[in-house]
Amino acid sequence: MAVDPTKPYNSENIFAKMLRGEVPCSKVYEDEWSLAFHDINPQADVHILVIPKGAYVSWDDFSAKASAEEIAGFVRAAGHVAREQGLVVRGYRLLGNVGRNGGQEVPHLHVHLFGGGPLGPMLAR
Ligand code: AMP
Repeated sequence: MAVDPTKPYNSENIFAKMLRGEVPCSKVYEDEWSLAFHDINPQADVHILVIPKGAYVSWDDFSAKASAEEIAGFVRAAGHVAREQGLVVRGYRLLGNVGRNGGQEVPHLHVHLFGGGPLGPMLAR
């Protein structure tokens, strides 16, 4: 079901459970601010999700309420993972879905990191 980004954070979402260690994930990186893991249903050769450790529903919530340290930590983690995965030379795509029109399904902020080959047009039409 589509996420309503105006609703309060619900700590029973799957990514919150991963952060608490209640659900396993295929971890590729973790630091003080962020966790990154392989998407369970990859849409590209490389498909990694990067999430902040704080309780934020979406990019909207995060950009409005997160501290400067949380924002910097999350942005740096996404860049670090892309470098660590060797994606920079050939390029990659970062995507963040917000709410119904964006197709967001999990109500904990995440960015998709796609790479490994040409990624095609930016949007399906
Ligand atoms: P979005 O549509 O932007 O909310 O994307 C949610 C993503 O989370 C989808 O690409 C799912 O395949 C992925 N996902 C859902 N559950 C899991 C899980 N348990 N482990 C890894 N990825 C997941």
